[in-house]
Amino acid sequence: MPSSLTPIDQLPNALGSMSEFVARIGDRKPAVFLDYDGVLTPIIDRPEDATISEGMRTVVRDLASRCSVCVVSGRDLQMVQLLMGVHDLAVAGSHGFDIWTPDQGEIEHPRSDDFEEIIGEVTDRLTEEIGTVEGVLIEPKRASVGVHYRLVSVEDRPRVAAAVEQVVTEGPDRLRITPGKMVYEVLPNVEWNKGSAVLYLLEVLGLDRPDVVPIFLGDDVTDEYAFSAIADRGIGIFVGRATDPEVGGRPTSATFVLASPGEVQAFLDSFAR
Ligand SMILES: [Mg+2]
Repeated sequence: MPSSLTPIDQLPNALGSMSEFVARIGDRKPAVFLDYDGVLTPIIDRPEDATISEGMRTVVRDLASRCSVCVVSGRDLQMVQLLMGVHDLAVAGSHGFDIWTPDQGEIEHPRSDDFEEIIGEVTDRLTEEIGTVEGVLIEPKRASVGVHYRLVSVEDRPRVAAAVEQVVTEGPDRLRITPGKMVYEVLPNVEWNKGSAVLYLLEVLGLDRPDVVPIFLGDDVTDEYAFSAIADRGIGIFVGRATDPEVGGRPTSATFVLASPGEVQAFLDSFAR
């Protein structure tokens, strides 16, 4: 369903519009889906250091005791659990390919086994091509390979981009690239994104019901798929500032905005009460 796009700087702030937000939910049950990086933790130079703060962890736990909460990340499931220090919360890793819930345990995506071999090949090829470029971080995950270039010098970045492009071109029907914040995600070429992930989660978590309002919080370009997938029945909250050069004046399918993980924490805290 096409959703309307609004420039990010014209969205109402969710913290400042709490009564409007609550009115939208009405007497339905909220199901809160949270992206991890940039939403529950600030974006930092070394993605492996993005641990959650004590305060945020407490707020997310409190919320999860009151309504359905699921963390949806491009990262590996185990990595999200490790960084959050939480092992009793529903988490969808690898863009929803790998799901774990306290009630149902592991819910594996029906196609994730096919990917293991491709991920190994792509990781080897990229390590061979650009593994020695200073600052490059190649992160093989369950269903994608992340190539982080935030720490790569401006002169070397085109080389990284070219190598990623080359590897994808070698297997045009098998792979695709999703750009993120200073990262290229090389993914198997199947119709799957954060939007399909959230719809799939609603289904497997038993939340695909008219009395449930999905709420999705995300900060990145890839999160637009989720905002748009739930736009007809849920609420998208974009996390970030229009003044951020990586955000700019981009239009979004989200309905509200929160400026930072700090505001997310304050919002979730007041929402959990
Ligand atoms: Mg993010």
